[in-house]
Amino acid sequence: MMDCIFCKIARGDLGSLVYEDEQVVAFNDLNPKAPVHVLIVPKKHIEKLADIQDGDDACLAGHILVVANKIASDRGTAQDGYRVVVNNGPAAGQSVWHLHFHLLGGRELDWPPG
Ligand code: 5GP
Ligand code: ZN
Repeated sequence: MMDCIFCKIARGDLGSLVYEDEQVVAFNDLNPKAPVHVLIVPKKHIEKLADIQDGDDACLAGHILVVANKIASDRGTAQDGYRVVVNNGPAAGQSVWHLHFHLLGGRELDWPPG
């Protein structure tokens, strides 16, 4: 989508990427909530997690988790632990309507989240 901020970032129009492959990009969150706070985003515009169905999109979601593991390793958080979060819908706090997985690490993470 032309006016979607994460589509723009995925096209490389804005900011710098920490990871890119054929299917996804990853970049640092603008307003980080932890020392490591990376957003992993499909290049394809999918609005939200609830839109993922079995098939290609499910493979894409699985791939994003593998990328999250890789970035966590690269950032040195893999040993201590890290968290992958998807906020789906307004009550969960989703504010950007292009699917994104938050990778959080580099500090102790409270549970349960707010
Ligand atoms: P949500 O609340 O939808 O789960 O997460 C959206 C995230 O995107 C927030 O953590 C917010 O800081 C981040 N964000 C929003 N706009 C931008 C942007 O233009 N660039 C980057 N790097 N992060 C953004
Ligand atoms: Zn988009």
